[in-house]
Amino acid sequence: MPFSCLADELKQRDADGLLRRRRVLQSPQGARVRVDGEDVLSFCSNDYLGLANHPALVEAACAGAQRFGVGAGASHLVTGHTAVHHELEQKLAEFTGLPEALLFSTGYMANLGVVTALLGRCDALFADKLNHASLNDAALLSRATMTRYPHADLAVLERQLAASTARRKLVVSDAVFSMDGDIAPVPELLALCEKYDAWLLLDDAHGFGVLGKTGRGVLEHFSSRLTPHPSYTTFHATSRVESRNPPQVGRIIYMATLGKVAGVFGAFVAGAPELVAWLVQAARSYVYTTATPPLLAAALLASLRVIEAEAWRRERLAELVGVLRQGLQLQRWQLMPSETPIQPLLIGSSQDAVRVSESLRQRGILVPAIRPPTVPQGTARLRITLSAAHSVVDVQQLVDALRQLENE
Ligand SMILES: *Cc1c(COP(=O)(O)O)cnc(C)c1O
Repeated sequence: MPFSCLADELKQRDADGLLRRRRVLQSPQGARVRVDGEDVLSFCSNDYLGLANHPALVEAACAGAQRFGVGAGASHLVTGHTAVHHELEQKLAEFTGLPEALLFSTGYMANLGVVTALLGRCDALFADKLNHASLNDAALLSRATMTRYPHADLAVLERQLAASTARRKLVVSDAVFSMDGDIAPVPELLALCEKYDAWLLLDDAHGFGVLGKTGRGVLEHFSSRLTPHPSYTTFHATSRVESRNPPQVGRIIYMATLGKVAGVFGAFVAGAPELVAWLVQAARSYVYTTATPPLLAAALLASLRVIEAEAWRRERLAELVGVLRQGLQLQRWQLMPSETPIQPLLIGSSQDAVRVSESLRQRGILVPAIRPPTVPQGTARLRITLSAAHSVVDVQQLVDALRQLENE
């Protein structure tokens, strides 16, 4: 069969303005990057703390390569699980305040692995409509019944849980929604999971390192409204519990990625010891793949130290979010409600979003236009992401450009 049918589809996508293209980056990640031969001010990475090119991480990666070489050479269950991977897992458990953690090669693989290890044909998965694609793919692969609820709609989710007679139930949600920047109602989700005896998988890809006073992620963000499981001795021991019967974190499956805020690559899942032990047996994307290069684990150990030591990075981010939101009170285009580094500016039509993105590019500013099907019809947007690597002047430059463009 010839490939000409694909050529036709590609042409159609191009005609619809939906053809995805890759830019070629010629510099490390940062506030200013060199893209396709041009220097631009970038508001498009997920490197929110500015760690992807941090000297301490680069040095740790080099030292890791000197000590362990560049390749793991085998899967974790054969001979690829090095001392530095092992140490990183222990540090991630300590850092998140959960009993145990397991490293995966990517967040995509972690989600596939967890969901397929826990659910089968007789089980049910309940998913927020705005969840990341990897969670939806995981649900399909597991063969469980998948029911989606409108974004953060707890009433609908409760009806769906109440109606389910499945053997096992799993509620799945992004902790910070990647295209909207808002935070999932975790204490309420957890309370529903307690009421209907379901597990809760939280994908904290955009919260780990950023949310919470010390960057421990969405569980720290909500720590005053959650209680640790009795067997979890380390979970936010200092947190003050405010509500009367706050739900216990014992049924949470916490997943976070390490290629975004942490600045390196990979992902991990943390939770109860039995959960982690089961994943080592049954998560196929863990068992049947090569361990990530140990040098990355070495860089990640350095990253955790920087996340802990350099609180100014989270403070700078909060300041920049304030500057942007203060400055971008526009007439036609709305900043969506968000307190995270993801600050989407709602434009509406795909054509307009692309046009604004291109005009910014002509002014030397890179902000991606996000269009359907990644986001719902009529909600094309600029996905502005801020980083501790930006200065107030950088953000002001973006604000000024957008104000001008709105009036053109
Ligand atoms: C990026 C992302 C993933 C995938 O993580 P990778 O490590 O890049 O594979 C999963 N979930 C969410 C919400 C993400 O934003």
